[in-house]
Amino acid sequence: MTPRPVLTVCAVATPTGPCPNFTEGIRCADHERLRRRAIGSSTARGYGAEWRRIRLSVLTRHSWTCHYCGGPADTVDHVIPKSQGGSDDAGNLVAACTSCNSAKGGRAEEAS
Ligand SMILES: [Zn+2]
Ligand SMILES: [Zn+2]
Repeated sequence: MTPRPVLTVCAVATPTGPCPNFTEGIRCADHERLRRRAIGSSTARGYGAEWRRIRLSVLTRHSWTCHYCGGPADTVDHVIPKSQGGSDDAGNLVAACTSCNSAKGGRAEEAS
């Protein structure tokens, strides 16, 4: 008889409250997949360890939730594009899903 895996609640907090999904690890399958994809794509695109660290901190800060549509985010987006003098500083970065990030392109976020 194999012992039952101990399930804990996902460590990620979403804007609507803690993620209710159970997991045998730290994050639920959905959030673990987002994290892996975020790490994978950043290395694939040739960014260094520093960028990966910033990216993960931004995604975690935004609860892996897209700043624009509220969907699951696995990329970060520059609020002020680098082409307009924006920095890679965490303060200039928001979490975004792939479709919002690519749809936005190089434009600056509309001031509200
Ligand atoms: Zn979760
Ligand atoms: Zn989005």
